[in-house]
Amino acid sequence: MSIAKERNSSIESPVCLFCGSGKVRHAESLSVPTVVERWRETYDLDVTCRFEGLSTLNLWTCASCALQFFAPAPLLAPDDYAALEGRPGFYAETKWDFDVAIPFLPERAHVLEVGCGPGHFLANVTATKSLQAEGLETNPNAAADARNKGLRVESVPLETWAADKALHSSYDAICAFQVLEHLPNPHDFFASALALLDTGGRLLITVPNGAGFIRYSRYNLLNMPPYHCTRWTARVFERVETMFPVQIIAMQHEPLARHHLRWYVNAHLERLPETPFLYAAACVGGRRIVRPLLGCYPWLRRRLTGHSLFVCMEKGN
Ligand SMILES: [Zn+2]
Repeated sequence: MSIAKERNSSIESPVCLFCGSGKVRHAESLSVPTVVERWRETYDLDVTCRFEGLSTLNLWTCASCALQFFAPAPLLAPDDYAALEGRPGFYAETKWDFDVAIPFLPERAHVLEVGCGPGHFLANVTATKSLQAEGLETNPNAAADARNKGLRVESVPLETWAADKALHSSYDAICAFQVLEHLPNPHDFFASALALLDTGGRLLITVPNGAGFIRYSRYNLLNMPPYHCTRWTARVFERVETMFPVQIIAMQHEPLARHHLRWYVNAHLERLPETPFLYAAACVGGRRIVRPLLGCYPWLRRRLTGHSLFVCMEKGN
């Protein structure tokens, strides 16, 4: 897969970041100066140096595994995450991802969380379930916070941890919440996770659902480089079963969350043609009628597909 990274330094003939197929089609181009400006306005962070002179970001769709990926895909450095961590919701103490995953963790399991942040999930499961839990976190501030909770956390990527596997025992479960879409080499992530799992062990993953409402947000800063480099859907995970010795035992979509309502309505408004009168009318309807209505009635939101996708896979022989 390092071949994919090397070839993708040019946008002429990218290969899929996941399956390595060269059968890809161009999906969209986005302006780097626009992305840089919006990062400055929204997060007060200058990401100019991350793009190394690029003027356009190109999104590609793999015909083989259906993954969408950016190539080239410049990414934030670990220190940039330290600058973002104070943002509301960046390291949420509770979230749907945790709630949906916990029932799939066996009692007394040895669990590794990849990208554990300040350890909210690990602290939760070690307190409520009899688990032996460890974490990996490359953001130095978040890793320090997790260690202050008494958790065992290493500041290395999963691939490094797997390469040193003689130094530690294998795992019954590996969790990665909202991590996969940040990784430039997702194939190595799966290979490393499976090398660390016992047979019958579980890989629990959440990602932003690339088939959900977020796909309508064109300049969604948190769904493109330098933050994310890939977009995942249920269809891509079904392809994982043909690439690795795993079986999907559960897949769930997050219902629309109240705190995503504004984003949900605005994303759908972006789908509309730019006919001034129609667009203005839809904005009024969406913001003054649909959003308050969905805010008042949780049962309505539960019927709509929200932000994330959860997948639980079991390792076979
Ligand atoms: Zn592919």
